[in-house]
Amino acid sequence: MSERVSIFDTTLRDGEQSPGCSMNLDEKLRMARQLDALGVDIIEAGFPIASDDDFAAVREVARSCRRPVIAALCRTTPEDIERAWEALAEAARPRIHTFVATSDIHLQHKLQKSREEVLEMSCQAVRRARSFTEDVEFSAEDATRSDLDYLCRVITAVIDEGATVVNIPDTVGYTIPSEYPHIIRTLRERVPNIDRAVISVHCHNDLGLGVANTLAAIVAGARQVECTINGIGERAGNASLEEIVMAMRVRKDLIPFETGIISEEIYRSSQTLSNITGVHVQPNKAIVGKNAFAHEAGIHQHGVLKNRLTYEIMTPESVGVKTNSLVLGKHSGRHALNKKYEEMGYQISRAELDKAYKLFTKLADQKKEVFEEDLLAILQDGIAHIPEHFKLRAVQATAGTAVLATALVTLANTETEESTTQTSAGDGPVNAVYEAIDKLTGLKGNLLDYTVRAITHGTDAVGEVFVHVEFDGVSYTGKAASTDIVDASARAYLNAVNKALYAKARKQIANNEQVLADAM
Ligand SMILES: [Zn+2]
Repeated sequence: MSERVSIFDTTLRDGEQSPGCSMNLDEKLRMARQLDALGVDIIEAGFPIASDDDFAAVREVARSCRRPVIAALCRTTPEDIERAWEALAEAARPRIHTFVATSDIHLQHKLQKSREEVLEMSCQAVRRARSFTEDVEFSAEDATRSDLDYLCRVITAVIDEGATVVNIPDTVGYTIPSEYPHIIRTLRERVPNIDRAVISVHCHNDLGLGVANTLAAIVAGARQVECTINGIGERAGNASLEEIVMAMRVRKDLIPFETGIISEEIYRSSQTLSNITGVHVQPNKAIVGKNAFAHEAGIHQHGVLKNRLTYEIMTPESVGVKTNSLVLGKHSGRHALNKKYEEMGYQISRAELDKAYKLFTKLADQKKEVFEEDLLAILQDGIAHIPEHFKLRAVQATAGTAVLATALVTLANTETEESTTQTSAGDGPVNAVYEAIDKLTGLKGNLLDYTVRAITHGTDAVGEVFVHVEFDGVSYTGKAASTDIVDASARAYLNAVNKALYAKARKQIANNEQVLADAM
């Protein structure tokens, strides 16, 4: 058996910090379940002291994912560590991940501490974390710009205090593949107790070298790698999980280590994340991009047809990309639909199946063939995770080069069960629809971003609309899929409206509870 490299996924923490990638609790849980299915060893679920939402995310992910280790991030202060531990209380396999910067730049300008002070803070933090759990990771933030002698001292000291994983992050994406392995090797040579901890790496992509640096570090002795799906993360992102894993698999001759990743789940993981955040990968993205396995050039096609090995170093199937196969038709029943979802890896409840089936029959009426992507769209769009305050009853829009765009929208208020209709003119049909919705809801939305893309093939394709809308200074995402773009646009916008109303209602409940607590 070859040695194993642990995959530490930080899509829900470092990844979620990137602009446009924020997720609500339900979305984080959905992503966490997919990461579990993918076989990652560790899920970093959040930074509990940063916000109540992060705290809840760590707690709920820990409750629902029992196989992987669940990590919670914290600084070195007692409050930070205790808050992380509180969030992990119900985890089957908890890990406290504490960090402090070790580079002089950070010490002087951010922490205003001396090297000795930071060394002491590190030791105290690890000692405190170890009083709660045996699994403690320590990160020396900005390690690649730290003095190497000092870094060795800190790492020796925290291992003495009981750190089981020592992470050497390239926080600012500064190192290169000829330097990083040198740092890892130096630690292995000069830190006398290094055999008592796992060396971890965490690379950022500011110079586009995140994956290259990670692989170089593995060869030099790192046995945990921190990464994200689709490479999302701060600034230019983190090293991408799918690229690291597939490079290790394809070049097993040079990087002979195992991971626990079920590579056939890679594409679905990538899609799930894109679907949740609305941030899609570029077509030429390695492993999961739309064109990653497309052999357009004639000479390539000819070669691939004769023998795929001519131009393919891995098969699309190995990362879970399926050739577009017809899965269900108009006459498929509820049972067949459920079975198909199970095959696709989704366990859905009875109520969800009822809802999905209704949407499926509607879609099957409009389209001759229903593909797996269609079913995915139904699942991800149709089964709302947010209570719907407003529902779309009807939408009609007229537009053209010679007429003023107008829209007529009917919304149902699910509380009062009343339906109301409004008309509006606008700058194009979508704008007219949104104006009408604003009149009906009484909320003024500021549309920050609007994207539409075809998620299935052909002119009868299902289109997916993504919006970022600001209400009262807070931005919400909304999405919907339909064969009718105006319908999808209206429902995507309403999805954002309902999220805003839901967030407002939850805040109100929290405030009331606080008032009650203060009164007692
Ligand atoms: Zn990072």
